[in-house]
Amino acid sequence: MVVYDLQCAQGHAFEGWFEGLEDLEGQLLARLVTCPVCGLSKVKRVPSGFGIAKKRGGEPDHEMAARLVGQALQRYLRENFDDVGAGFASEALKIHYGVSEARNIRGVSTPQEEEVLKSEGVSFFKVGASPSSPPPESDSEDD
Ligand SMILES: [Zn+2]
Repeated sequence: MVVYDLQCAQGHAFEGWFEGLEDLEGQLLARLVTCPVCGLSKVKRVPSGFGIAKKRGGEPDHEMAARLVGQALQRYLRENFDDVGAGFASEALKIHYGVSEARNIRGVSTPQEEEVLKSEGVSFFKVGASPSSPPPESDSEDD
């Protein structure tokens, strides 16, 4: 699986997991990918900060790939995002309304807090918490 950075027509940035570029583009064309913030299916890929490639001529090592992505993601988040812990939702709102300095933050939030963020139009994405949420109607699990 490969994680791609995506963006909807309203500018919400989020990520999706796909078998590869072909899978991603097929699902984008079929409008199967929707924005988790506003639900728009008008989504495009944006250049990703990191990626992984399948081994040539062999079975893709999904476990290794997942681990690599996990590590890269952790490192990326550590280096580029302020950890605000449980204060994520309130800090995201402060940034959204210009009360706090605009920056990337990471932390934890409750489903209720996420609803508030969504209704306020705050762009955020979740990583780690639910790695096993494939895009809808992806039943291409044949090896
Ligand atoms: Zn959106």
